[in-house]
Amino acid sequence: MKPLKIYFQVALFSALLFVSCSKESLEELPQLQNNVKLTTQTSARTGLKPIGSGVMMQAFYWDVPAGGVWWNTIKGKVQAWSDAGIDAIWLPPASKAQNGAFSMGYDPYDYFDLGQYNQMGSIETRFGSSGELQSLINTAHTAKLSVIADIVINHNSGGNSEINPYTGTSTWTNFTPLSGKFNRTYNDFHPNGIHNNDSGAFGGFPDLCHDQPNVQNWLWKSSESVAKYYKNVIGFDGWRFDYVKGFAPWVVKDWDTEVGGFAVGEYWDSNVNTLDWWTSQSQASAFDFACYYKMNDAFDGNDLNKLNDDMLWKRNASKAVTFVANHDTDEIYNGKMLAYAYILTHEGYPTIFYRDYEEWLDKNKLNNLIWIHNNLAGGTTDILYTDTDEYVARRNGYNNAGLVVYINNSNYWQERWVETNWSNTTIKDYTGNSTWEPVTQSGKWVKIQAPPKGYSVWSPK
Ligand code: ZN
Ligand code: ZN
Ligand code: ZN
Repeated sequence: MKPLKIYFQVALFSALLFVSCSKESLEELPQLQNNVKLTTQTSARTGLKPIGSGVMMQAFYWDVPAGGVWWNTIKGKVQAWSDAGIDAIWLPPASKAQNGAFSMGYDPYDYFDLGQYNQMGSIETRFGSSGELQSLINTAHTAKLSVIADIVINHNSGGNSEINPYTGTSTWTNFTPLSGKFNRTYNDFHPNGIHNNDSGAFGGFPDLCHDQPNVQNWLWKSSESVAKYYKNVIGFDGWRFDYVKGFAPWVVKDWDTEVGGFAVGEYWDSNVNTLDWWTSQSQASAFDFACYYKMNDAFDGNDLNKLNDDMLWKRNASKAVTFVANHDTDEIYNGKMLAYAYILTHEGYPTIFYRDYEEWLDKNKLNNLIWIHNNLAGGTTDILYTDTDEYVARRNGYNNAGLVVYINNSNYWQERWVETNWSNTTIKDYTGNSTWEPVTQSGKWVKIQAPPKGYSVWSPK
């Protein structure tokens, strides 16, 4: 979810657009629903890398180029990403939103319009047509990548005005999308006959009520639901739930119980207790905002002792999705490569942000860290040393040798004696930053070094 000010700009612009929009003729649905396609999807999906075995790519950023080219842009990259050790790509919300061809998708209107109906001012979404989306997903599956859908179900946008007996006013809650699916009225939003609200609304957007049977059926329960359409017809493999603060965690649990697949929620909160609570209630993973903010304090606040603090991955690594930047927030600036060195050597399922990988940072260095993550970073974690500008931790290995990572946030080379898991073993720095090849003592101690504003990762040669 994006900071409110941007949403309001979009909403205002959309409100203007809305006046001039009318429902155009129904476009022919492409042949998405025939059995041949379904069979193809199923067979292509059996050989996918397990989600979490590698690294996730967030395959977009805020305001990617408009004009319907984005699906094709990333289709050209998925094989290289897979070769580098990526195991899944997270796409932006794929369905038609109120702002039509300009929308980043977080103001959803018709969940069943993936760029094939002429409504909200365009046929294609900002990212392309439904056919181009399908082609991207098929290409990703061929490259053994899973595809994670961004699911925005806290709120909707773009409905017609109707008299609402629960508010005594007119509300934009009358939805009759061209797909003909998931028609909605004021009964499906808050307040309604069930209650006045859920755990949160977003801006002024109509706030969906997930207690309403019509909403449950269309979102995940019925055979025609959004979840089943996305999974079984379009071929999405997993879910990233937007703004889960705005509704109860059982919604995500019910969705995933119904259709399965990896699920991660955007619970934007630095409080690790809250994140831990949400994952236990939803049984889904959560983005580790606690880790994100501690890394910001550590690397940009110049105190690596902050990395001793609590984070979701330390509570429950199997439910923590770690990240350094995303489409909403990108505050770790000076120490960004160090932050990537941290998440790619530690527990949790790390995510790489598209712009960091493709535009802003050194792709070779990130590929090296992805390799280290996938090949050396197994097992439990012990922090060996911290001070304001140094951090040393050991991964104890699990079906691999494990590693020792040394992060140095000072302006000069540093070196330190540390206790490894290896005796009388020649080790080396797999990042290539240090040329040392020291031999560990029989008691497993060894002296390692790390470059200024840099890092090293040690494991047996
Ligand atoms: Zn409700
Ligand atoms: Zn809500
Ligand atoms: Zn120091």
